[in-house]
Amino acid sequence: MTVENILAKLVSFPVLGGESNLSIIHWIKEYIESHGITTTLVPNKEGNKASLHCRIGPAVDGGVILSGHTDVVPVEGQEWTTNPFELTDKGDGKLYGRGSCDMKGFVACCLAALPDMVKANLKKPIYFAFSYDEEVGCLAGPELARAINTDYTETPKYAIIGEPSLMEPIVGQKGIYILETYVNGSAGHSSRIKQEVSAIHESMRLILWLENRMNKLIEDNRLDDRFHPPHSSIHVGLVNGGIAPNVIADNAHFYWDLRSIPMDDTQTIVNEFEAYCRQREEELRQVFPGFKIETIENHPPVPPLDTKANDDVVDLVKRISGKSKLNTVAYAAEAGQFANEGFQTAICGPGSIAQAHRANEFIAKEELVKGMKMMEKLIDELSANSFE
Ligand SMILES: [Zn+2]
Repeated sequence: MTVENILAKLVSFPVLGGESNLSIIHWIKEYIESHGITTTLVPNKEGNKASLHCRIGPAVDGGVILSGHTDVVPVEGQEWTTNPFELTDKGDGKLYGRGSCDMKGFVACCLAALPDMVKANLKKPIYFAFSYDEEVGCLAGPELARAINTDYTETPKYAIIGEPSLMEPIVGQKGIYILETYVNGSAGHSSRIKQEVSAIHESMRLILWLENRMNKLIEDNRLDDRFHPPHSSIHVGLVNGGIAPNVIADNAHFYWDLRSIPMDDTQTIVNEFEAYCRQREEELRQVFPGFKIETIENHPPVPPLDTKANDDVVDLVKRISGKSKLNTVAYAAEAGQFANEGFQTAICGPGSIAQAHRANEFIAKEELVKGMKMMEKLIDELSANSFE
């Protein structure tokens, strides 16, 4: 099968983040096994989703993991001019379809190169690591990365996450943590503002605390120029509360996210926020004993990626991608999760993130060609005795 045929097949599975991915993962499994390679599924507890990993080549240390996700984002509310789940060639050098770029294009390159990987005399192995639920918070990444560490007797050295980067090596990614804060005050006539505790007024105070905390990070010069913006950001994106202008709100909540540069520890900031909340509770319970602030995870934190420019993986990715300019990204990916398992990790894949998650998502055909070129070069590298 050509890379375009495989991509068309992958796009035809409308597997959204959060949904069962068994249809696409079983197709991938059968495809890989038809080339004589054993695969391992890493199922979720409910058994309706699974990641897949496999090794091509010898069971020796120092191999390279190629990682991709099998889920995509929804198409609802977007104005598609083609069927999003049918890869469409409009003759303009682009292949349209949901996931064509993010990131079934890279997965298709891996699978299309599989016959050559099998045929090659690899001195170091290649691993495929395909996950689910990446688009709803990189939920399967940690377990998959851990499974690769524990299921094999040997240890891979590198991980390449094939998110669309126009084949540029990406060495940094901000960590992302999304939280929900719920404030319980007491209702009453708006004139009783000093006798009741308004959940809205208190939410405002907490939100301002968060903004001030971010500004303090900047003031303290906690900056990493590889990122835009160079500081960790704290942002409240949704606020809800109250029922009428003349009623003191007994409930309010807000959703916020913390996008952290590698030097900042997200948990420390959350702990400081929690300490401030406890202080506010103590104070306001003198007015209303039932006053409560509760913060919960919207989804688990996705760790940052902080690969150093002189790490071996950077050289490897530069050589096989043909691109030498290092970049960082602000989007979430599984890269930090693979790095946390001890693999030297970089993001590098075909297609542009500018096309991801939108209507009429596409991958340029020439990007797929570049992706295949990268696979070819990787096979050459790993077939050489000198590879380290
Ligand atoms: Zn992606």
